[in-house]
Amino acid sequence: MKLFDLTGKVAVVTGGNGGIGLGMARGLARAGASVAVVGRDAEKSARAVSELEALGAEVIAIEADVTESDAHRRMAEAAAERFGGIDVLVNNAGINIRKRPEALGEDEWRTVMDTNVTSAFLASRACHPFMKRAGRGKILNNGSMMSIFGAPWAPAYAASKGAMVQLTKSLATAWAGDGIQVNCFLPGWIDTPLTIRGRQEVEGLHERVLARTPAGRWGESEDFEGIAVFLASRASDFVTGAVIPVDGGFSVMG
Ligand code: NDP
Repeated sequence: MKLFDLTGKVAVVTGGNGGIGLGMARGLARAGASVAVVGRDAEKSARAVSELEALGAEVIAIEADVTESDAHRRMAEAAAERFGGIDVLVNNAGINIRKRPEALGEDEWRTVMDTNVTSAFLASRACHPFMKRAGRGKILNNGSMMSIFGAPWAPAYAASKGAMVQLTKSLATAWAGDGIQVNCFLPGWIDTPLTIRGRQEVEGLHERVLARTPAGRWGESEDFEGIAVFLASRASDFVTGAVIPVDGGFSVMG
């Protein structure tokens, strides 16, 4: 359907080499977009490139650590040079350091904030000139259930993901006049390398998630193909500053 067609569009996905980011990259590729996957792990990125190319997309890997201040400019320039512009940015790279507040070090706090939210600001700022010049653009920010809730083991993570929502709203108001829509999606509990580690570290987490998720299952990376295409395509042109749970009902369960 034309409304969801991304043929000729260029998408940059941070953390697009695995987990939720790769799920989103798959959706964008299937809808016709060219994709730049950004990550630190070159081997993982090479595997993601092969997988996305097999779907018929043009794909490049950009090796970058999003906590480094020059990474965002480099990433935007590399994508624009290869594909001729940037239409879509997915700010997805993220980590958690699971510690109670009294045990979390200042460096650890800063690492989580830099990776999850400062990088989203810097990447958006680096891509903005390309989108503004084209008169259109889409920025998709990855939040979390921790954008809404708190947890004893997630002080920095929850702070960063709450900030992601407010960053989304500010960018949406700032850049609506440039034809750029900025939205945030909030994944529920998704089966990825991040949460495999979480399930090992937090006792009873697996069972609690299943019990509280009305859909009765963990999410899969495939569950993010649809939201990626919707928020990246013409279908969402009048949707901006929105915060959309993709959580099997977790956040509305009383
Ligand atoms: P993964 O660990 O599979 O993915 C994290 C991705 O981020 C990887 O591709 C990783 O690439 C990249 N990344 C991390 N740090 C950096 C860095 N410094 N520079 C560049 N890339 C980096 O986990 P998920 O797919 O689960 O997580 C993706 C996003 O989804 C995160 O923002 C997370 O907070 C969010 N989320 C996940 C939920 C879940 O249940 N899984 C729930 C809610 C939100 P590389 O390995 O190459 O560095």
